[in-house]
Amino acid sequence: MPADIPGIHHVTAIASDPGENLSFYTRTLGLRLVKRSVNQDDVSVYHLFYGDYSGSPGTSMTFFPYEGARQGRIGTGQVATTAFLIPADAVDYWVDRLAEEGVDADDPRERFGDTVIPFRDPDGLQLELVALEDAPEGNMPTGPVPEEHAIRGFFGVTLSLASAEPTADLLEAMGFDETERERTRRRFEASGDLGYVVDVLEDPQAARGQPGAGTVHHVAFQVTDEDQAAWRDVLMDHGLRPTEIIDRKWFKSVYARTQGGVLFELATKSPGYTVDEDLDELGERLVLPEWLEDRRDEIEAGLADLPTPESAE
Ligand code: ZN
Repeated sequence: MPADIPGIHHVTAIASDPGENLSFYTRTLGLRLVKRSVNQDDVSVYHLFYGDYSGSPGTSMTFFPYEGARQGRIGTGQVATTAFLIPADAVDYWVDRLAEEGVDADDPRERFGDTVIPFRDPDGLQLELVALEDAPEGNMPTGPVPEEHAIRGFFGVTLSLASAEPTADLLEAMGFDETERERTRRRFEASGDLGYVVDVLEDPQAARGQPGAGTVHHVAFQVTDEDQAAWRDVLMDHGLRPTEIIDRKWFKSVYARTQGGVLFELATKSPGYTVDEDLDELGERLVLPEWLEDRRDEIEAGLADLPTPESAE
């Protein structure tokens, strides 16, 4: 049995306007832009990575912002909701902040004993803040959100599925334990302290999700370099057809479409976002993996201007 998967490594979603996306995640939510690159499968589109100060696994929310993208539809076969973790005493702060910033948010509610604030990003992506008494300390940048109230990283994701069972079985094979159940929601937890929760919502009647702006593209789970191949074998044993191990420069990745339709990735913790930029300069310039560097002029010409994080303040 390979070493435990502690939880989520990153979540990648589709957005429309890159400037609006940058402003929302850095200024409104207080995350740091830790990498400014391009979609390695479509270099006309940015790939923007947000996270804590160093973009640690478990904090990293990433986007492909396609300008003028068609709006997607959240539905089955997708990560329906991505949840960030905040300290329990930050609830009032965030309720006020989201209201002041004009964010589309709902009143706080309780789920499995925790306070949850549901809200949407500018593209309608479904997000939540989940407040925990024992929130880890975190390492967010100094910025618009005071340190004591800052988002710590991911709490988890909610998968929307027409049929929960195959995905529930897979999560258990990946080392997640079922800890809670309430009507159509089942909660699975891994061993980490960030991004360790996967909720599975079964709704056979719901419409199937359509990819597009405001929807999640995939969720990546954190594995070690040593155990990535063994976890890939676990996916194959469950009847999935994972990709080979792909070098993404900042981590190595394996992708597999699960039976429920959600795209899973296994991503390595190392080498991380500081492999090609100094920690205090992350996200300031467009970085490309070596194999795209000789196309830099052409790639830059095809991308919209994007403010530096400082001017986005
Ligand atoms: Zn990914």
